[in-house]
Amino acid sequence: MTPSSKATVAARGTTAHLIDLASTWSAHNYHPLPVVLARGEGVWVYDPDGNRYMDMLSAYSALNHGHRHPRIVQALKDQLDRITLTSRAFHNELFGPLCEKLCRLADKEMTLLMNSGAEAVETAIKTARKWGYKVKNVPRDRAEIIVCENNFHGRTTTIVGFSSEEQYREDFGPFTPGFRLIPYDDLEALEKAITPHTVGFLVEPIQGEAGILMPREGYLRNAAEICRKNRVLLIADEIQTGFGRTGRMFCYQHEGVDPDLVVVGKALGGGVLPVSAVIGRRDTLGLFRPGDHGSTFGGNPLACAAGMAALDVLVEERLADRSAEMGDYFMKRLRDVRTDKVRQVRGKGLLIGVEIKTEHGKARPYCEKLMALGILAKETHDQVIRFAPPLVITREEVDWALERIAGVIV
Ligand SMILES: *Cc1c(COP(=O)(O)O)cnc(C)c1O
Repeated sequence: MTPSSKATVAARGTTAHLIDLASTWSAHNYHPLPVVLARGEGVWVYDPDGNRYMDMLSAYSALNHGHRHPRIVQALKDQLDRITLTSRAFHNELFGPLCEKLCRLADKEMTLLMNSGAEAVETAIKTARKWGYKVKNVPRDRAEIIVCENNFHGRTTTIVGFSSEEQYREDFGPFTPGFRLIPYDDLEALEKAITPHTVGFLVEPIQGEAGILMPREGYLRNAAEICRKNRVLLIADEIQTGFGRTGRMFCYQHEGVDPDLVVVGKALGGGVLPVSAVIGRRDTLGLFRPGDHGSTFGGNPLACAAGMAALDVLVEERLADRSAEMGDYFMKRLRDVRTDKVRQVRGKGLLIGVEIKTEHGKARPYCEKLMALGILAKETHDQVIRFAPPLVITREEVDWALERIAGVIV
């Protein structure tokens, strides 16, 4: 493909008109870049006029496989011709196989499938609390879960209730009690926050939404040890960092950690559908009885088809290795750019943040300039440009992007 290659789909309206419709008829809970994406393939997306862009956001890492990966699309098409929705009132053919595949991938014993990431986080919270009452014998309604400052775990009222981001909480209270906020990357604070009522420590191995914040080496490993000693469940939110994004299948593997509960979502849907899950041992997830928890769409056959294909592609195409290799190359080349506008380039695998010095303005205008050059990236918080392309990106495509990025950040 060349930069001038045109889309072949019929446009459904002009960019200006479609953006106007969205602005008129949708709640303004996002501030999108002014581009309409009409078609996508691999790392490339096209607007209604056929202009091509490289997707460097990957739907916040839900598109690790790239747009419309042929094997995933085919699996979905095949499933569409069989059955799409059963509800959990009945079994379907792919539900058990997907649960098994997830368990084998994470070396666990049980899976609970949901849809969105936030639902999976809620499920992990319920699991930890139930384990606290049934196994750890915490007095009823006294369970505590420790979370970190700058966390991002989703947008439900319970989850935003323990956010440290004022905008996420403002006007949405009252909130669910039972959470304790500590600084990220602070083991002493973790030890101090634990009480006999603590049931879980919910943590992101790298804080993506907070601006690709990386804890010091050993943080997760030592946190896991503190949790183990105090009988506290380590709950790793791998929704953004999982499935190869950081160069390993799960980010916690960089530290040789084995979390009690692994929360996954985003790329599990293969870039097609929302599919999320909590993966754990029998002594936690085995506590659920029929009626305790559920979801109409959770584990539906179409979602399972997406999940099965997504995991097969990840493993067979070795996308985690590719992410490590391309990520190292990308980051090294970014660090080689001679510029005094950048405070730091950081990341792991293909989860990369470029922090702009405050005296050189916010990240948003840089993203707008990148868009004009055919690169779609999004700022995270004020100062960080996130580069998280699909893991199928080639070295030539990384070079293509670097040329343009260098022009914008010098
Ligand atoms: C995106 C994300 C979530 C929430 O997932 P949704 O599917 O948007 O509900 C939770 N945790 C992390 C770390 C995320 O990146």
